[in-house]
Amino acid sequence: MKLKSVAVALAMCASFVAYGAAAETVGISMPTKSSARWISDGDSMVKEFQAAGYETDLQYAEDDIPNQLAQIENMITKGVDVLVIAAIDGTTLSNALENAAAADIKVIAYDRLIRDSANVDYYATFDNFKVGVQQATSVVDGLKARFPDVKPWNVELFGGSPDDNNAYFFYDGAMSVLQPLIDDGSIVIGSGQTGMDKVGTLRWDGAVAQARMDNLLSANYTEKHVNGVLSPYDGLSIGILSSLKGVGYGSGDLLMPIVSGQDAEVQSVKSILAGEQYSTVFKDTRELAKVTVGMVDAVLKGTEPQINDTTTYNNGVKVVPSYLLEPVSVDASNWEAVLIGSGYYTKDQIQ
Ligand code: BGC
Repeated sequence: MKLKSVAVALAMCASFVAYGAAAETVGISMPTKSSARWISDGDSMVKEFQAAGYETDLQYAEDDIPNQLAQIENMITKGVDVLVIAAIDGTTLSNALENAAAADIKVIAYDRLIRDSANVDYYATFDNFKVGVQQATSVVDGLKARFPDVKPWNVELFGGSPDDNNAYFFYDGAMSVLQPLIDDGSIVIGSGQTGMDKVGTLRWDGAVAQARMDNLLSANYTEKHVNGVLSPYDGLSIGILSSLKGVGYGSGDLLMPIVSGQDAEVQSVKSILAGEQYSTVFKDTRELAKVTVGMVDAVLKGTEPQINDTTTYNNGVKVVPSYLLEPVSVDASNWEAVLIGSGYYTKDQIQ
């Protein structure tokens, strides 16, 4: 009896040792909790990594670049086995990543490409150009539906944060749809402001977008009306919509312009149902987390991760092998099938 319990104890110890040796740690550096999508990304990754037998160190940097750098340096010092990073500013991590490489820590760029560094091993993201195509396509569809008799349509453009590589892909994707319509005169950019240098929104800040929309309206739309606004992110759309509502759009005879978005955040889905925001783009962060866990698992086991793009994402030093997921355009016609049907939200969260 005694011998047996000693044997059991020894077996338990052995399995603890084996488990301890296998539990590698993944450092996860996320940009901010101010947007629900990044919270969901972090939560999904922790869940998936733990299910795959990894430990996680998840940190949010509240959109503060030095904060993110300090968090990453700290993870390197603590000896994480791999880093998964969604950068605030994709160009500021080169030194930190040199330290990671020196410590033999592999790096996965998560959602946002990390630029100007050879020490980025893989990139897990969505088809970001397609996100922009979907945003602009929904704006055009909305213009046709809500303003069938208006010629030309007055539109304004907003871009994402100029330090986020994704912002250029969204903008370029959108302009691939809008530019031909600008060229043939169907769309006029009332302010004349085009190009990421003029329409970018630092740190994806909704208040900055709201202030710019206020200015655009007072400088260009006292005699005419704006019919559409290309917005690359729900958080900007909220600011843009409040600016529009502030001068009377969406009440009386003044129709709300068609405003796009991205991330299918709860408040914005509600806004779509209330007839304010027109559309958003759903990116299933649960799927992105799964792809990332698969990449990390392969990297740590010394096998090749699954990738499906080896040409698009040149970070200035090299083309980073990538896995791109499909975004889905969402509006009042399909929100339920896409967002509730996929189990991303429950109906109670939206209605
Ligand atoms: C992400 C978007 C998000 C934006 C603002 C981008 O890098 O790809 O999903 O809307 O950042 O957080």
